[in-house]
Amino acid sequence: ARSKAAVVAHDPDRRQRQTLVPATSSSNATAPGGPLPPLLPHTPNPEHQAWNNRVNEAVKNITGVDETAARQILNEIVVKGDEVHWDDIAGLEQAKTSLKETVVYPFLRPDLFKGLREPARGMLLFGPPGTGKTMLARAVATESQSTFFAISASSLTSKYLGESEKLVRALFALARALAPSIIFVDEIDSLLSTRNDTGEHEASRRIKTEFLVKWSDLAHAAAGKEHKDGDDAQRVLVLAATNLPWAIDEAARRRFVRRQYIPLPEPETRKKQIETLLKYQVHDMSEGEIDTLVELTDGFSGSDITAVAKDAAMGPLRALGEALLSTPRDQIRPVKFIDFEASLKNIRPSVSKEGLQAFEDWALKYGSSG
Ligand code: ADP
Repeated sequence: ARSKAAVVAHDPDRRQRQTLVPATSSSNATAPGGPLPPLLPHTPNPEHQAWNNRVNEAVKNITGVDETAARQILNEIVVKGDEVHWDDIAGLEQAKTSLKETVVYPFLRPDLFKGLREPARGMLLFGPPGTGKTMLARAVATESQSTFFAISASSLTSKYLGESEKLVRALFALARALAPSIIFVDEIDSLLSTRNDTGEHEASRRIKTEFLVKWSDLAHAAAGKEHKDGDDAQRVLVLAATNLPWAIDEAARRRFVRRQYIPLPEPETRKKQIETLLKYQVHDMSEGEIDTLVELTDGFSGSDITAVAKDAAMGPLRALGEALLSTPRDQIRPVKFIDFEASLKNIRPSVSKEGLQAFEDWALKYGSSG
């Protein structure tokens, strides 16, 4: 699954589908008169069993949290499986280094990160859409062996509206109980924007307040070294992503001690990504053609490049028309440079030059270097 992770297209429902881990595993009832042969296709996975035990223990110990909300978090928000590793992400070396220092090492070696080395409680990843922010968050969770809670802020203010406050409380309580934890909030701007202060949406304002309060509690608990069994506030980090960093209000922005710019890919990064995408595809592209492709994709994001490659890979099949149905696989021609040229006519970069400038300006003003 390692290399696959790098080539799957952005699919917002994917997370949802991959969440698993039923928190309560119904015990297989044994019928009277002898055990029945196992009917269920899933044999108990010892790893999941261990996880379930841990979850049940955690849920038992936390108080003041709505049980339905807690279950909802465990079923829909906790991500398990289909791991992303650093190597799956092309380039972004600076961001990887920064994330290792801010999250991964402190989570793995909490004994070394105390006092002045106290880890950050919040980190913001900002930049154009489709540049790998979500992938980075997933890789951080894998590499730091953390429980990964992934929620999009816009779903808090729409899909879950009404139960959002309960959900936010349950989210933070569970993150602390199941630490080390990463709370990944995508589209954080829709939760922490200045717009929410103007009373436009009373309900969203309340969720914002609840989120900020629970986040502060985390910092206080961590500073107070309240490290009880089943509550490890020091190893919980809010990692957020946004394509609209300027929409976040000032007070909220300051809480993200680190603000990491995730830029459009550099030529070397685009080359690496293109090579990865072509690795499992029959193609006859020369080194020179790949280099030309790298030049032609200047201004493209990682997800734009994935889209181009997927479209180009369809080229040989499109050329066949209806004959596709009867052509043996080994007679289908390889993907060629002309396929990419054709795809590039239809798929254009999703970020404009002006749009990009806005990110660079914001990065200069508010981004953290290093
Ligand atoms: P973001 O969260 O920044 O909007 P994602 O992390 O969701 O972007 O990336 C969307 C898709 O684009 C990924 O699933 C992947 O296919 C591709 N992609 C983006 N950046 C990279 C990268 N640096 N390396 C490999 N694939 C990438």
